[in-house]
Amino acid sequence: TPVIGVLALQGDVREHCTALAAAGAAARPVRRPEELAAVDGLVLPGGESTTISKLAVLFGLLDPLRERIRSGLPVYGTCAGMILLADKILDPRSGQETLGGIDMIVRRNAFGRQNESFEAAVEVKGLADPVHGVFIRAPWVESVGAGAEVLAEHGGHIVAVRQGNALATSFHPELTGDHRLHGLFADLVRAAG
Ligand code: GLN
Repeated sequence: TPVIGVLALQGDVREHCTALAAAGAAARPVRRPEELAAVDGLVLPGGESTTISKLAVLFGLLDPLRERIRSGLPVYGTCAGMILLADKILDPRSGQETLGGIDMIVRRNAFGRQNESFEAAVEVKGLADPVHGVFIRAPWVESVGAGAEVLAEHGGHIVAVRQGNALATSFHPELTGDHRLHGLFADLVRAAG
């Protein structure tokens, strides 16, 4: 059973733990470098990317996270987590750090403000049927580099990307009860292990 951590500084940690357990992984919260060192894969949850990045600095996790991701730790980021995985954020807030890992440029809050949050069916490469995409102040991917593969688009904008062991979606499968993307990620972690 792969042990998959969920970065537990802020955001929808519990929902990811539930989804990972349903997908057959052993899920645990990660708040300290020792906990990070003990996982086979890591989820970066939805929430607020600036807050998460500032807390990562305070908790001494920023550099350990960057290093493990750079050395191939499988990671899956949803929404704020997608922003954290971007090599470049188009409109970073002051003090906002990125972990990097996917050669993509991400635009925060690209689909609009909280009251413009929406849900839509999204076709994802590798899944037979569309997922129910929940978009909450969601980012989109402005562009990807040569190494990154686009897995889904919505309204002409890229909303899911994979590069090697790193996966990112603009939307929140952890809020839907559909655990296929967590299952895909668990497979990726097993294959890497
Ligand atoms: N807009 C948020 C951010 O910039 C992300 C929202 C979310 O994760 N639902 O971090």
